[in-house]
Amino acid sequence: MKILVVKFGGTSVGNLERIENASKRVIQKLKEGYRVVVVSSAMSGETDRLINLAKQVDPMPPERELDMLISTGEQQAIALFAMTLQKLGVPSVSLCGWQVPVLTDDVHTKARVKRIVVQKLKNLLEEGYTPVVAGFQGVTESGEITTLGRGGSDLSAVALAYALGADCEIYTDVEGVFTADPRIVPNSKKIPVISYEEMLEMASLGAKVMQARSIEFAMKHRVRIHVRSSFSDSDGTWIVPEEEVMEKSVVRAITLDRNESRITVVRVPDRPGIAYSIFKALGDAHIVVDMIVQNVSHQGYTDMSFTVNRSETSKAEQIVKKVAQEIGAQEVVRDDRIAKVSVVGIGMRSSYGTAAKMFEVLYKNGINIMAISTSEIKISCLIEDKYGELALRELHSAFIEEGEEVKVVNES
Ligand code: ADP
Ligand code: ASP
Ligand code: MG
Repeated sequence: MKILVVKFGGTSVGNLERIENASKRVIQKLKEGYRVVVVSSAMSGETDRLINLAKQVDPMPPERELDMLISTGEQQAIALFAMTLQKLGVPSVSLCGWQVPVLTDDVHTKARVKRIVVQKLKNLLEEGYTPVVAGFQGVTESGEITTLGRGGSDLSAVALAYALGADCEIYTDVEGVFTADPRIVPNSKKIPVISYEEMLEMASLGAKVMQARSIEFAMKHRVRIHVRSSFSDSDGTWIVPEEEVMEKSVVRAITLDRNESRITVVRVPDRPGIAYSIFKALGDAHIVVDMIVQNVSHQGYTDMSFTVNRSETSKAEQIVKKVAQEIGAQEVVRDDRIAKVSVVGIGMRSSYGTAAKMFEVLYKNGINIMAISTSEIKISCLIEDKYGELALRELHSAFIEEGEEVKVVNES
């Protein structure tokens, strides 16, 4: 049985006409001889709408109830999708995460997939059904409904593809993965083939097109992914192991992340154990911390800053305020007007001068750098939010449009 998992994002199921268009794509795949498992996101805007409702009740809603609420967006979409397929003559059945089941841990709003039981899906496929599974949601061993983090339908699709031994197609509202967000940089180019490593960096650094955790999962289990448009037939981007990527650019893509906030703990005593106290408390609350900067100390005191995802800033702020009191810091300051621009490429491992060039572009545009972080295949700079799009375009122009492009060619 040749199985294919196809996932449709919010825009691709944004109204009934689009659900019909997506269904026709599924029918095409069935005609090509595949047994198809569909994964659907909520209709576009629905998850945001539900989160907004919850926040009107409580700015920091209880996470169990939040999952109960926001998982309903996908439930609506799968029912409409399965109805549409049936109307078009395809036997289909919709399934929520708990009905598959997609088993997760119990970290509400960003649960991890632990195990997927595929027997029911396989039986349905053998009986000639096309199952439509709700993305983004799972269930704990004790029956609690969980969600997998924003953009989590990508993870649902990749995890199902792995569990079923299938390839994975991600249908979205752009033609693939581009050298920068095509909505901000019109000159960006589609990348035909990209390694897991680069895609993971891009996704973690703000390229919304794929959820970072889905790529982490795909890399670990070597699931091949084809990202493509649900509105055109052209080939999209293949995300594959690094050894299958023939051309290695020093800088493959530029990303912009406007979804973080910076928290600064002002005037903390500079002694052993302080960083531990702050970040242990955040870790215990499952908060992912990004760029950390500790200033040079003055008279035994220093400032400590870090960035977190905007959706977790309030929670992080609350936790750090408590720790700040215990350790005798002066105050905790939050700043939402920041953005992070990054250059990403596996060729960076064996090249030099990239950081200097990046800093030069920012300097020539009068943009101040507040923090820098690097890995072997990326350089990120924290800047003021109002310069985010300018920085993205200028870096794209310097590195991709005028850049030397292919530096290293894989000979294997
Ligand atoms: P879906 O609803 O299909 O999951 P998303 O909105 O999550 O779609 O992701 C697609 C969006 O990602 C695009 O509309 C685009 O604006 C944005 N995006 C950001 N960076 C990139 C990039 N480098 N390549 C392609 N799209 C990108
Ligand atoms: N509907 C969820 C979200 O908006 C999951 C997804 O779209 O992948 O984050
Ligand atoms: Mg998405």
